[in-house]
Amino acid sequence: MTRVAIPELDPTAVFDVTVEDGHFSGIRPVGERTAEDPATPELWPGFVETHAHVGLPANFDDSLEDARIVALQYLYSGVTHVVDMFGFPLVKDVWEQGRAESALPYPELVHCGYAATAMTNAAGLTGHGVEFPAPVHMIATETDLEHAIRSNVERGGTFLKVMFTDGTEQPGSPVKFSRLSRRVLEFTARIAAERGITAVIDCNTLQETRWAYECGFRLFAHTVRDRTLDAADWKEFEGARFVSTLAGLRTMIMTGDEFRAEYGREGFAETQDLRNREFSQSIEKPYGIEFGCQETRTAALADMRRNALATLHEGKLLIGTDSGNTGAYHGYSFLSELDLLRGDDASLTEPLRRQATVGGRRYFDELSGDPRGTHPLSVGAAATYNLHAPGRPLSALPLRTVVRGVPIDRQAVARTIAGLRAAGADRKEES
Ligand SMILES: [Zn+2]
Repeated sequence: MTRVAIPELDPTAVFDVTVEDGHFSGIRPVGERTAEDPATPELWPGFVETHAHVGLPANFDDSLEDARIVALQYLYSGVTHVVDMFGFPLVKDVWEQGRAESALPYPELVHCGYAATAMTNAAGLTGHGVEFPAPVHMIATETDLEHAIRSNVERGGTFLKVMFTDGTEQPGSPVKFSRLSRRVLEFTARIAAERGITAVIDCNTLQETRWAYECGFRLFAHTVRDRTLDAADWKEFEGARFVSTLAGLRTMIMTGDEFRAEYGREGFAETQDLRNREFSQSIEKPYGIEFGCQETRTAALADMRRNALATLHEGKLLIGTDSGNTGAYHGYSFLSELDLLRGDDASLTEPLRRQATVGGRRYFDELSGDPRGTHPLSVGAAATYNLHAPGRPLSALPLRTVVRGVPIDRQAVARTIAGLRAAGADRKEES
């Protein structure tokens, strides 16, 4: 590959790149990147989805997409690494068998097994997570946590996901779940650290995030959603990182027209079940109105976006979606997330792409327990990357996606998905 831009390595140069046996064998600057050649494609590592639920139902009828289709939906969108934030063991067998039989490469995946959450409290509220079809571990003692960690490790989980939020989105909105006590938070952070297991915690509010931080947590599965943090608030969160999850939470407040626009981009028809598009366009009033949370969710998303962007320039933002929530489709919604974060601020394009790729990869490696910190664009690293046309929206499909040296034929991916659907692989009812 000759004369590609690699802004991550040097924004002023163009490079020649060679690949051998699936790995970069040469990345050499060969000239200046000039304004006269604005069409030079940009090479970035593959996208990393940092907050997915591969085993939760994104379809509007609550049916679960076959994991083999999910894998290819990610591939189609240029997402080459996926962090599953609980639930993967539900679909692990199908995913692994699919990967073994697939002519197309699968994205790489790390998962936590099942999440850890609070016990049912005296008011009868359960810990966040038990409302999903994936089991969670309810913990109250150190032994409960030891058990949760052991069984997750046995299932292939490499990090710990802790559910802390009580479900409050905005001041005055209802408490939905029970919450872990300070004592449980403290021993959870401590034991995870002792074991060398990275822990990610699910918080909604500033207060929850503050408590979790005080107890030792530094990785947050969402940004704060009950207010926009100011400079003094940010001082409290030195070293913390946050995952953006706008795409997965926005479907609650969208109108039929907004769904029409959202599901009208390239790649939807090729990868997703069109029944979802038909259904969503018929939604006359958003779910948020039906469930009485339209205003709070709208405000929460605006706070979350501002809080996400506040961390972007320090490299503390991780791009994720909460895909697996209703209407947040695997792969497709990752590209939506980038547009939602960027809004109309062109200066965010490059930092967002960097966090969606290089920043995400560092996080992926950390969660997988790989301490090497290999730069994904270095000689010897796996040749897994996307080529992007400059000037197109962040949500545009990459010009080309290459996984471990194998160029992905997007049409072949679409055909394979269609074939799996025709063979009845989609929409398995939950059992
Ligand atoms: Zn989630």
